[in-house]
Amino acid sequence: MLSPGAVIGILGGGQLGRMLAVAAAELGFDVHIYTDEPGSPASRVAAKTTLASYTDAAALTAFARAVDAVTFEFENVPAAAGEALLAAGALVRPGPHALAIAQDRVSEKTYLSGAGLPTVAFEAIDSEADITPALARLGAPALLKTRRFGYDGKGQAWVRSAADAVAAWAAIAGKPAILEAKADFVREVSLIAARGADGAFVTVPLCENIHRDGILAQTRLPAATAQEIAARAASDVSQLMAKLDYVGVLTVEFFELADGALLANEIAPRVHNSGHWTQNGADISQFELQIRAVAGWPLAQPRLLGPLVMENLIGAEVENWAAIAADPSARLHLYGKRGVRPGRKLGHVTRFV
Ligand code: AMP
Repeated sequence: MLSPGAVIGILGGGQLGRMLAVAAAELGFDVHIYTDEPGSPASRVAAKTTLASYTDAAALTAFARAVDAVTFEFENVPAAAGEALLAAGALVRPGPHALAIAQDRVSEKTYLSGAGLPTVAFEAIDSEADITPALARLGAPALLKTRRFGYDGKGQAWVRSAADAVAAWAAIAGKPAILEAKADFVREVSLIAARGADGAFVTVPLCENIHRDGILAQTRLPAATAQEIAARAASDVSQLMAKLDYVGVLTVEFFELADGALLANEIAPRVHNSGHWTQNGADISQFELQIRAVAGWPLAQPRLLGPLVMENLIGAEVENWAAIAADPSARLHLYGKRGVRPGRKLGHVTRFV
């Protein structure tokens, strides 16, 4: 168990790192951020920052020696960075294995189905010529996604017929890809869970998510999902985390079908946007759970304090901050990002409803 005063290292400097750093500070830890972005949102609330590339072996080694444990706030850190930290003797939670799986949509879906979590049917696509035969097997429409580095709906194109193949391949810039059968879901839900160093397992209440243009727009609690389906999600994720020997918070995004089936779409080996409401709407936040797990502290089962809606403030929506701040029912969180750009997540607001 790390004692208060210990230093927790976080790879990544975005809003997740910022909110993790605040949660760590509340438990008496210092945070050291490793990022390649000058003046990052997380750096501005952390005790220390290393500003270096994720491929700088010397900087990674020095960072590993300066901290008592390391975690991640985004998953596109090169797997080699995690290995370099381990080689330098750092306690890395979760381990780089889960990160490597989540970085590639084909290995992710293959691992998920091997762990007993069904997914949509899919095929690996290595060239434009692979698309038409795969579409014939999967059925149209199907969704073409880059295998790596996709987020918030980026790097995705629908293929409605064989005639779309050329345009879809061009839309994802001809990168190695996955073609996925369309999920006819009644809703999208996410299960955020934490596993402690002692194997203890807790879950955040199931989140119901509404996406706009591939970006999370809104999360609602409680999810309309039946209790037994939510319980199945929790037990599937518990098995998955045990199989990964995982320590920390992990999120699984699911499509819920009309017949009650759950198809796992994506895992995030970290805290998740759909769990931001836990800062105000639960008696322990996903950020505190992650810090507790990384520090080897006991976990606690979060409880929902009341029905609520969390809305992301995307792009120009953040310019509404003064009106939101004036609404006594609104809990506003801003990320301190410089520059309002369309599609950029700049804050969120949670309201009990
Ligand atoms: P992803 O990047 O995989 O999280 O996809 C972003 C969003 O696109 C998801 O939250 C869904 O709303 C939609 N989507 C992704 N994959 C599929 C699929 N196979 N079928 C239907 N909708 C999908």
